[in-house]
Formats: sequence, C-alpha cells, structure tokens
Amino acid sequence: MEKKNILITGGAGFIGSHVVRRFVELYGEYQIFNLDALTYAGNLENLKDIEQAPNYSFVKGDITDAGFVNDLFSQINFDGIIHLAAESHVDRSISDPLSFVRTNVLGTVNLLNASLQSSKANPAFLFYHISTDEVFGSLGQEGLFNESTAYDPNSPYSASKASSDHFVRAYGETYDLRYVISNCSNNYGPNQFPEKLIPLFINNIIKNKPLPVYGDGNYTRDWLYVKDHAEAIDLVFHKGRKGETYNIGGFNEWKNIELTRLLCQLMDKKLGRKEGTSEKLITFVKDRPGHDLRYAIDASKINKELGWKPSVTFEEGLEKTIDWYFENQKWLDQVTSGNYREYYQKQYQEY
Ligand code: NAD
Repeated sequence: MEKKNILITGGAGFIGSHVVRRFVELYGEYQIFNLDALTYAGNLENLKDIEQAPNYSFVKGDITDAGFVNDLFSQINFDGIIHLAAESHVDRSISDPLSFVRTNVLGTVNLLNASLQSSKANPAFLFYHISTDEVFGSLGQEGLFNESTAYDPNSPYSASKASSDHFVRAYGETYDLRYVISNCSNNYGPNQFPEKLIPLFINNIIKNKPLPVYGDGNYTRDWLYVKDHAEAIDLVFHKGRKGETYNIGGFNEWKNIELTRLLCQLMDKKLGRKEGTSEKLITFVKDRPGHDLRYAIDASKINKELGWKPSVTFEEGLEKTIDWYFENQKWLDQVTSGNYREYYQKQYQEY
C-alpha cells in the first residue's frame, strides 16, 4: 500500500517536535515531512532520536516564501497538513509585530493557497490548523472559553493567530477546503524554549537568577502537558469532525504566582535545597502591556466527542519537565547561548 504523505510545519519547535515524534513512531503508514525554517525557536536536536527513521523527512524552508511552498506542494502529493509553524512568543510580538503578521498570517495563507491544489487532486486532503486560546481575549474571574466564544484578541500574537484561524475557516467556506482547527491553552514540558515561563524559571532557579513575575502575579492560565496536547492533535487529525474547531485544555488553572511557588518547592526538593530557598528569587517586574488577566478553557467538546482527557496531573507533568531539563543541561546551555542572551537582557532590563 502506498504511504500517505503528511506535512507537519514547525516540527522542530516545542509542540511540533512532540507531534512529529508521535506520528513517526505510531504511523509507519505515513511519510512525515517536517517543514521548518529553523528560526531561534526551531532546533533539530529536539528530534535527534527519530531523525534516521525511514518514514521521516526534514525539509528546511520558510512558509512566508510562496514560491518555495508552491514548489514543495507540486513535488509531493500531500494527504494532509498539520500546521504549527508560527512566531509564538507574546513578548516578541509586542516588540516586532510585523514578523508575526508575516509568518502567522502570510505564511498560513501561502500554505492554504498551495493546499487548494492538493485538495482538488485529493478530496480527502485535510488542513489542520493548530491555534491558541489567546484568540478569545481575556476572561474575568468567572467563566470558560468554549468553541463559540467570540474572538477578541489583545496582543499582536493573538491577533495574528486569530487572523490565521479566520483565513482557514474562510478557505473552508469559499473553496471547500476540508479543515479542522484546535485552540489550546498554555503548554509546558520537555524541549520548550526557555523564554516561556516554566523553562525560564527552571533555568533561572538552577542558575540562582531572579524569577521575573509580571505585575502582581495574579494572571491566571490553564496549563497542559505537551504530550497530552500531541495526543489531542492526533485524535483531532484522525477523528475530528471536519469544519469544526476543538478547544483543548488541561482543566488546570493556576495564578502565575502560585505556579511559581509550586515550581520553587519542587525545585528545592530536586536540588536538595532548604525549603523556601528558590522562592527568594521571585522578583515582580513591570507588567506586560495589554496583559490578559485570565484564560480558561472548556474542553468538554473534545472530551465528549473524541474521549480525550489529560493523562497527567500538573504536579506529575512538572516533575517530568524538571527531570528533563536536569537531564538535558547541554540542550539548555546550547539554546541559551548567543542571541538568547541579547534577547533576555533586553526583555528583563527592568530589574
Ligand atoms: P515554537 O516557537 O516552539 O516553534 C515554532 C516553530 O516554527 C519553530 O520550529 C520555528 O523554527 C518554526 N517557524 C517559525 N517561523 C517559520 C517560518 N516562517 N517558516 C517555517 N517554520 C517556521 O512554538 P510552539 O510553542 O511549539 O507552538 C507551535 C504552535 O502551537 C504555534 O502555532 C502556536 O501558536 C501554537 N500554540 C502554542 C501554545 C504554547 O503554549 N506553546 C499553545 C497553544 C497553541
């Protein structure tokens, strides 16, 4: 039987690498093409263990380059795409919104245009867009985002993801492209670039550096272990109803300051330090502009329709994550050298 060709974009990044590994390991009947530009956030070290697998191919390329994307689609008959490539960090979107428009909006539209040809040749072709709960804006103390919550993005990042979601839906309506979208809450786990809260704080605690908490620390987020997200993506890709969106979340809300304290406790234990040592590193810093107070996801649709739920508790997930960063100091040192240092100094110059 001929193999199916599945394109995964952004597969060298944090979530993408977990999705690529899962698909390469579970689906020998697929040829997985990982398309990634290898920006600062993309790292092929994330996939070292599977790079020799016969059903895995890496393609270096930029989704903002329409000519390149069209050539790729004319060379390979894809049966589906799982699109994760994006600029993904809110703070960076505040200092450089245009690069978010380029990659997240223009890049997605380039992929949609190229997909129209695949979809004509193969009516079963599926465009799966991976998105974020941040497109819904901010909640007060009560309530949850569900699939019919109106879009109300507040940061250049979330505005660019909202725009790309709209384009995907519009291509479905206008050109009959088969699509599915999922909007997920904050992910954490192995291989996350240490500009994001959890790996940043693990790294800083190891190095005895301050833990910069925005504002009063009362911002609330829902957290999901990345491998649970990869499993949800697998289910939505294979069993999700086409033309639908699914919210994915951990049923796991934490205020940033409480999460930081929990992380400090687990790290003190791991490092054999006296309880309370790491907490002394907490430093409150000037708030991020347009900071959303609270995100929380109602993930009951994916739970009821596809039987998905998170497999680990937050404490279990955090322990696995901490263990991974301890076992992979080399990875951490490699990604925190060079450009990262410059970025870090600019971002946290307040203290
Ligand atoms: P990431 O920043 O770790 O990885 C992004 C990947 O995309 C990198 O490998 C990068 O090299 C690649 N990339 C960037 N620009 C590109 C371009 N122009 N052409 C080709 N490749 C390019 O991101 P992540 O945290 O893994 O997020 C993946 C996706 O999931 C994003 O679409 C993001 O919006 C979404 N998402 C992330 C979270 C989260 O908590 N991290 C939550 C919900 C949704």
